[in-house]
Amino acid sequence: MSLRIRFRCPECDDAARLDLSQSRTWQCPRCDHWQDLKAYQEGQLSACLLCRNRELYKKKDFPHWLGLTILTVACLAFLWAHGRYHPGIAWMILIGSAAFDGLLYFWVGDAIVCYRCGAEYRGVIPSAEHKPFELTIAERYRQERLRRTELESERKPTSQRG
Ligand SMILES: [Zn+2]
Ligand SMILES: [Zn+2]
Repeated sequence: MSLRIRFRCPECDDAARLDLSQSRTWQCPRCDHWQDLKAYQEGQLSACLLCRNRELYKKKDFPHWLGLTILTVACLAFLWAHGRYHPGIAWMILIGSAAFDGLLYFWVGDAIVCYRCGAEYRGVIPSAEHKPFELTIAERYRQERLRRTELESERKPTSQRG
């Protein structure tokens, strides 16, 4: 299983993707920021490879639009079958789609996300360290981010970046 990462460039915030089976280094096409990801040990992810943060959470890698699409289609089919006086079929559609939804939920893997930089890791099996999302921790990081951007905006007029 290869590790795939979806992240934002630490320098210019540009969205990026990387497959670690293809490359262990990454260079931003926009700002030329260079990132080394050689710290990754196969199958283990105890810290974010981008920002070295150790607080990560896991989430189901289930796209919301897919769940919604299944639900909408099932509801429409249910109403259609009901309108045609096939209540048995209507209920079968509804129950079937719910079961399918549940199966899909188990079948899709987990994604591991960094609280700090929001990098998403796929293709790694979560360990006991990876807990579900906690709002209090996320809030702490949000505050930290806010403070950082405030500091940066204060510093900008004096420092020169080239
Ligand atoms: Zn960049
Ligand atoms: Zn991170």
